[in-house]
Amino acid sequence: MSIQNIDRSILKRIPKTDLHVHLDGSVPPQLVVELAKEQNIDLVQVSKDLGIGDLQHGTVDELEEKIFKDKYDSLMEYLIPFEFINVVLRTEEALEKAAYHFACDNYKEGVRYFECRFAPQKHWKPGLGWIEIVAAINKGLERAAKQYNDLDAVKSGAEPEYKYGIILCAMRMINEHMGDYFKKLFDLHVGSDLQNLSSMASMEVAKLVYQCQEAGMPVVGFDLAGREDGFPADAHRKAFLYCYERGINSTCHAGEAYGPESIKSAVKDCYARRIGHGTQLFRKGSIYHKRNPDGSELSKEERREYIRGIVQWIADNRITLEVCLKSNSQTLPEYRDLGKHPFPTFLKNKLRIALSTDNRAISHVSVTDEYERAIKLFNLTDKQLRNIAIGGFKASFFPGTYAEKRAYISKVIDFYDGVIAG
Ligand SMILES: [Zn+2]
Repeated sequence: MSIQNIDRSILKRIPKTDLHVHLDGSVPPQLVVELAKEQNIDLVQVSKDLGIGDLQHGTVDELEEKIFKDKYDSLMEYLIPFEFINVVLRTEEALEKAAYHFACDNYKEGVRYFECRFAPQKHWKPGLGWIEIVAAINKGLERAAKQYNDLDAVKSGAEPEYKYGIILCAMRMINEHMGDYFKKLFDLHVGSDLQNLSSMASMEVAKLVYQCQEAGMPVVGFDLAGREDGFPADAHRKAFLYCYERGINSTCHAGEAYGPESIKSAVKDCYARRIGHGTQLFRKGSIYHKRNPDGSELSKEERREYIRGIVQWIADNRITLEVCLKSNSQTLPEYRDLGKHPFPTFLKNKLRIALSTDNRAISHVSVTDEYERAIKLFNLTDKQLRNIAIGGFKASFFPGTYAEKRAYISKVIDFYDGVIAG
């Protein structure tokens, strides 16, 4: 059977990973409305207070029509749903519930390992502790994982176990409207420059990753997210270094809305083991600051050479690109037509790709959708599909020993081959 004619039911069944997926971006409108009701939060009032969304009724239908759109006209529009989701995700009960639903949705479409990421500082409010935020989310994920690992197919060893890790995100750019924590930070540090405040905040997230690991939670990594332009990753080098020195893996959103320099900084200044997106890796025209030692602009060939060096580093060190196709098509106008996406160039350069969703609900996307899209758009071969699926497991920041990771992957490979053969 050629992979080009593969049935969606088989794609759903093959074991997949989602290594780049935000919890808040994956809360569907139904759940937003439910959580708002439970907490007596008036979404219409939220809409008025924030001046976004223009909600009149706050129903699921209205949220689907005005906020969780099929198509977004701009990045600004894409970011609006996050505002509504985050106001309902500031209690332990809500976080637990959202996490549980998140893990169930993933399992139902054949994801067998995911890394759920979120920015704890966005979920903070007075009285809710840092560890409690992460523990509540872990509780929801664990509940779902246990439920599925109790199925006969898993217990008998016929199917691989359902596993997960947690990644905590720090933000490149912050402002006082991002939640109580940021508001307090701005109140307490009058006159502090923005970059300084955000690097203070990211250091706190790095320390929280370590604390959670010490507390025995499967928190497997540190991430830096948010606006790249004007907010370089190396401003957060201290937080990355803190992680590196403690053997904590990190990933970094880079090369999404900024060029190769952003990716270089993530992998070389900040030791990121994975890159969120990396879409702009090959864009020669998007090298803005790099100059020759004599101060002259780079020639075309020098630009090519600069990119070649980054690609070589990424490939040599098996740094993984977390590729989120649909999300790119929604937030980056130049990739509306995904035929222009560098995915084939990633493959040609033998870079490891982990196909991911970014935001399941806001992007209206599943991992299965992304597999289907990649197969059709880029004419993937059977071998390429297998490499991508298994590569996701290899690139994971697996919460266990290396030997356990290898044993798990070998189970996954057997299951994959069985599904394709059968
Ligand atoms: Zn992301």
